[in-house]
Amino acid sequence: MNSKAKPFQIGEFTISPGTRRTIDLPVSVLSDHTPVTMSVHVIHGRKPGPVMFVSAAVHGDEVIGVEIARRVLNAPQLSAPELERLKGTLLVIPIVNAFGFLNHSRYLPDRRDLNRSFPGTQRGSLAGRLAHLFMTEIVNRSDFGIDLHSAAIHRTNLPQIRVSPLRPETLTLAKAFGAPVVLTSKVREGSMRGAAQEKGIDVLVYEAGEGLRFDEMAIRAGVSGVLRVMRALKMLGAKGITKPKARSILTKASYWARSPAGGLLRPFKSTGDVVEPDMLLGIVSDPFGENEREVIASYGGLVIGRTNLPVVNEGDGLFHIADVSEKYDAEQTLDSLTSQLEADPLFDEDEII
Ligand SMILES: [Zn+2]
Repeated sequence: MNSKAKPFQIGEFTISPGTRRTIDLPVSVLSDHTPVTMSVHVIHGRKPGPVMFVSAAVHGDEVIGVEIARRVLNAPQLSAPELERLKGTLLVIPIVNAFGFLNHSRYLPDRRDLNRSFPGTQRGSLAGRLAHLFMTEIVNRSDFGIDLHSAAIHRTNLPQIRVSPLRPETLTLAKAFGAPVVLTSKVREGSMRGAAQEKGIDVLVYEAGEGLRFDEMAIRAGVSGVLRVMRALKMLGAKGITKPKARSILTKASYWARSPAGGLLRPFKSTGDVVEPDMLLGIVSDPFGENEREVIASYGGLVIGRTNLPVVNEGDGLFHIADVSEKYDAEQTLDSLTSQLEADPLFDEDEII
């Protein structure tokens, strides 16, 4: 079959098969009359195929996703000559929440969380209107999506994919992504993933690294994951896209080890460490060193998230621990995936941090 794709319509724009361009969808006007847009890069393959979106900075301070989007857009597999072979369409939105991005903030100026405001309405709050625009222009035109996140500010996540328990078919694509961990987690009320799922469109949520920081391995895992999913969807061929050297660690349950008191945390474990039940994870001390409280693991598992801020309050989540069955050698999996990313010719060695 050698049929040609039809032109792709989005907003006021028409993109011809075998071409790519950035378009600006108007969102709002700031109080000083600066216009705000949601910019979308459309890569429209010459051949028909699925439409996939990749979105980042729904939380404006989660900048790792912006860098992943930038590198995906510059991947040789998506360069102009390759668009003759590309099947389907990739929509890349590096910054969904421009307001938060400019202010280094998770939120919108109305202090709402965009990822709790989906599907939104045209006449709702600013967050609701932006969510509605994203649903109308992006989700409704797509067959599948990947939403790139990091941990919140002062926290870090081991690279992980979140999938919904209601959509087991998405698990195949989650595994193809090749992140170290795939966590089946409930969809949050008002999230993009939930709103898309209501429309029958599956979204993988990628969570990696820390808010307002870059993390080279989290970036690389994200870039190679997006390309691998495109390969799994048959949008791209195999050229230059490696399969993951180890299988992702699948987990369905996780918990937070919380601080027993306010004070200063000395952590003894970090993301990627395997912990046993009753193991000492860290110590919280008052500033005088008079009261020391131990943070103990209630259950064993793999540390998939951690606070980086040593100043803690009672009840703060300090270590996010995923339940991992014995059949995985978690440390071995992490080692082989990391060394694969270090050696991947897709990335410039100078960028290793
Ligand atoms: Zn987020």
